[in-house]
Amino acid sequence: MLVVLAVVAVLAVVAAVVAAVLTTPDPTTPGPTTPDPTTLGPTTPDPTTPGPTTPVGTSSATTTLTIAPACDVRMMYRLHDSLPWEWQQKFGVMMANLRRHFPLRNDYGPHCTYTVYAWRDDATQPFGDSFGYSGAGVYGDKVILEIPKSEFDSNPPSWHRYTVIPHEYYHVYQLSRSGGALCKWMLEGTAACFESLYIKQYEDVDYFGEQSYVTSEVLTSPSAFEDYNTPETNYSNSVFMVLVLHKELVERGETVESAFSKIFREYWAADLRADWKTRFHEVFGFSVEDFYTRLSSYTTNLQSVLPASFPQISEYSHG
Ligand SMILES: [Zn+2]
Repeated sequence: MLVVLAVVAVLAVVAAVVAAVLTTPDPTTPGPTTPDPTTLGPTTPDPTTPGPTTPVGTSSATTTLTIAPACDVRMMYRLHDSLPWEWQQKFGVMMANLRRHFPLRNDYGPHCTYTVYAWRDDATQPFGDSFGYSGAGVYGDKVILEIPKSEFDSNPPSWHRYTVIPHEYYHVYQLSRSGGALCKWMLEGTAACFESLYIKQYEDVDYFGEQSYVTSEVLTSPSAFEDYNTPETNYSNSVFMVLVLHKELVERGETVESAFSKIFREYWAADLRADWKTRFHEVFGFSVEDFYTRLSSYTTNLQSVLPASFPQISEYSHG
């Protein structure tokens, strides 16, 4: 109860500071929503965030063992009024769609509650001087969406101001279902691929063009992209690997829908924190090493590995 009261108190303070506070939990996810304070470990940076952060599971044994109890994940939203009302409205619609497609049941992740903090980057410290987060990513139980003003002001505006929402949401899905895989191209390639599939379906925008900066290294040294330290542009190589994986599955007899289902849903329905490769073999039917060998027979043309048509997300997600 103390925890509940503390949460309410925090929300009251935030509500006074932030103009747009949407703290209503998803009505489709009843059940216990109060995090167990004994299981909330250190807020280790999320493996989904590129850069100098440490993936969960590699920093310490304590992090690896941190699991929240099985729960339906609650998401709270703190949207700063520096973001245009149009963005905030679309955010709400997108979250409803995303929660339907990929419900956030926690099985192996560290948290039962996540809070989305969103603001436009020209706002000064909208969540307090000590907040300390920037960019976009999942950090512990915080989903950070700092949207660059330039993405609104460019002509035309950048779709990234919206695609970042399904991207980061999908990371929360990965984490809650599997605890997170220790492989950048699986984590980021799927999230980045999903953001393009989402914006294609709901806005009829081709965002794969922004992820077409594929380099030959992905053909000759694909294992390098398991590591967050290997640079790439807009996750293009990771997206390419996921699309090749999809193409390989289809060539082995899967439908476009069932291949996406294996990649976006089935694979993540297991504890992947210590071992992401065994599950890969189980779900896809070939080893990671065999997949890497197959990659060498491709060219670095992203368009050549896109499916001929895109099924509705509901056909390969949870609904
Ligand atoms: Zn990401």
